[in-house]
Amino acid sequence: MLGIGWRSWRMGFVAAVLLAHGAPAPAQSPVGPDFHDAHYHPTDYIQQETALPEFLGMMGDRVGRAALMGIPLQQKWDWFESGDRAPDYYLRSDAALYYYPFVDAMVAEAVRALPPDQRDRFDPMITGFNPTDMYATDHIRRVLRLYPGVFSGIGEFSIHKEVVSPKTVGHVASLRNPALDRILEFAGEVGLLALVHNDADVILPHEGVRPTHFDRFIEVVRRHPGTTILWAHAGLGRFVEPTPGYVGLLEGILRDEGLNHLYLDLSWDVVAEQIVGLPETLAAWVALVNGWPDRFVLGSDAVVSSDAASYLSALEAWRQLLDGLDPAASRKVRLGNYERLFDAARERVRAWEAAQR
Ligand SMILES: [Zn+2]
Repeated sequence: MLGIGWRSWRMGFVAAVLLAHGAPAPAQSPVGPDFHDAHYHPTDYIQQETALPEFLGMMGDRVGRAALMGIPLQQKWDWFESGDRAPDYYLRSDAALYYYPFVDAMVAEAVRALPPDQRDRFDPMITGFNPTDMYATDHIRRVLRLYPGVFSGIGEFSIHKEVVSPKTVGHVASLRNPALDRILEFAGEVGLLALVHNDADVILPHEGVRPTHFDRFIEVVRRHPGTTILWAHAGLGRFVEPTPGYVGLLEGILRDEGLNHLYLDLSWDVVAEQIVGLPETLAAWVALVNGWPDRFVLGSDAVVSSDAASYLSALEAWRQLLDGLDPAASRKVRLGNYERLFDAARERVRAWEAAQR
C-alpha cells in the first residue's frame, strides 16, 4: 500500500541511528530527511542517465523522496552544424531538439529494477510526449498501460521556454493549442500531477505591461480545476527574470480560489539566485511563502547529477529562503507538501489503473 515502504525506510533509518548509538539520537541528529525533491532529471538532453542506485547514494539520508522526470527533448548532434564537437546541452548547439518518447520506458525500467523499498522513494513522471499533438494523451495512456504501478504524474513538459521552444522541431508549443487542454484534462481524469514549464514572460519584457505569457497560462490552469498543476520555477528561468511586482502577481493567484489546484515549484539554482540574491527580493519571497506555505514544493531541477555535493547544492541554493520561513512553513515546503500531493496522486493513479483492467 501507499507510503508503507517509505515509512519502513524512515523507521529503518531511525532504527539504524539507535543501533549505531545504542541510545536515542541526540536532538540535533536527523530522524528523517531534510528534503523531498519534487524535480529531478535522471536523463539529460542527450539521454545520458543517472543510475538510480548511485542517485540513491547521493540522496543519502538528506533527501527522502524524489520525483523523477526524464528530459523529453533530445539535442540533435548535427555534424554539419557542430562537426566533431558533440553537444550535450541545448545552449551548446544551434541544431534542433526533438521529442524522445523512449525516455519514459528508460525511466520506468530503471525504477522497476529497484527493490520495492527503494522504488517507493521515487515518483516517476511521464514526459516523452509532444504537447502540441492531439495524440499526446494516447502516449500517456500507453505508458500507463505498459508500466502500471509506476507513474505519479506528467512533466516536466514545456510550453513557452526560453531558447528551447524555438529550437524544438514542429510548430512551436503554445498555450493556445487545444492539445494542451486535452493533456491537462486527461491528467485530471487519471489523477496524474502535471508539472508544467511555462515562462511567465519573454526574455526581453515588454515594458509597462504584465508578463507576456502570465495571464494566458493562468487562464489555461483555471480551465482545469480537477488537475493538480505544479508551475515549474514559478514561471521564471535562466533569462526570464521576475519583473518588478512579480511577487504581487503570484500573490494574486494564490489568493484566487479558482486556482486552488495550482502549486508553485521552487527549483533550478539559477532561479534560486534571482530570488535569494537581493535582500529586498528575498524578503518579498519569504513573506509570500510564509503566507501560503501549503502551495510551494521544493526541487533541485538537477540533471544527471554526478556526486552528492553538487546534487545537494541545488537544494541548498534555497537555504536563505528556507531559513527565513517559519519552521512549520519550511517543513511543508521541504517535505509535507510533497508527501500530500504525491501520495494523493499515487493513490488516484493506482485506482484509475485498477479500473482499466
Ligand atoms: Zn527541469
